[in-house]
Amino acid sequence: MPSNLMSLFDGSKINETVEALNRKAMIIAAHPDDGEFGAAGTATLLTASGWDFQYLVITDGSKGSSDKNVDKNDLGASRLTEQQCAANLLGISKVKPLNHVDGELVADRNLLGEIVREIRKFKPEIIFTHDPESMFSGTGWIHHSDHRVTGQMVIDAVYPAARDILNFPEHSVQGLTTHNVQTIYLWDTEKPNIYIDISDVLDQKISALLSHKSQFPSPKLFAHQSRQMWQDSDGRYREEFRRLDIWA
Ligand SMILES: [Zn+2]
Repeated sequence: MPSNLMSLFDGSKINETVEALNRKAMIIAAHPDDGEFGAAGTATLLTASGWDFQYLVITDGSKGSSDKNVDKNDLGASRLTEQQCAANLLGISKVKPLNHVDGELVADRNLLGEIVREIRKFKPEIIFTHDPESMFSGTGWIHHSDHRVTGQMVIDAVYPAARDILNFPEHSVQGLTTHNVQTIYLWDTEKPNIYIDISDVLDQKISALLSHKSQFPSPKLFAHQSRQMWQDSDGRYREEFRRLDIWA
């Protein structure tokens, strides 16, 4: 394991059980490209260390355009293809879309069951997703409602829904067993408590983001600005998360 990943396992319950981990992780993102912004560097480091990752994308991204003439079905199809290309660059082969309509996500029992089903199928030890408590950042940035709904549903899915056999009992009829996720990493958080140095894989993160061609019409400018904005005062690049170790 690279030294810059050791902090993932420092001083917590997960450190004691690392040998027992099945080394599976899941990124659950509201829209195509959210996962790259949030966790592409960390995912690249982990897949290179043998971790098996799966993407779960909740919406179709069909409103991610300022072009009034764009066909939303065409855009949704393009964005799923772009997401698969981005995932491939990170070493992630499987992208599972749930195809909810972009911008219209609501926290309900149906969405919870869909996320629980995917957790019970793949059985990740770690999940990366949005911090649902982030409604504002700074003085003017509003977090998308789909992000908050996704984060809330993922947390509710981890505990207690995916753990308890009496939640969504139809899953057991389908051959799925319950599952305890051990750790959640929340991106876009106001309360970070872990910082992963991604300097060595920054190029992969930017390349993965630029796979979302519909979102970045000026790729060179985006890459240049990203390198400037994301650099810490010591010259390194980090992804920050709020880590929750689940005591279920
Ligand atoms: Zn988004």
